[in-house]
Amino acid sequence: MTQKQKEVPLEYLNGKIGVAIATGNNAAWLCSCGYSYPLVGRSGLFNRITDKSKIQCKGCGKHFYVAPDGGDYKRVRKVVELDQQKIRGIDD
Ligand SMILES: [Zn+2]
Repeated sequence: MTQKQKEVPLEYLNGKIGVAIATGNNAAWLCSCGYSYPLVGRSGLFNRITDKSKIQCKGCGKHFYVAPDGGDYKRVRKVVELDQQKIRGIDD
């Protein structure tokens, strides 16, 4: 069987919703800044964002988190842009 290519929501801080493509616990998406290459990430912890689970766009510096569905490192539920002001200190 081929690896299913599932469309999942990509939630930006400004409220815009885009599309990311997921297969299992991996996701890929193009950042809204226009950076030429896709960002790729895998899902992290269910309810805690760690530095290891953050993905940063090389084009604009935005940070993203691949949210798992129902448990740590599970299949991708959605991709969200992170608010650096709100999450600062989580890993410190
Ligand atoms: Zn970007």
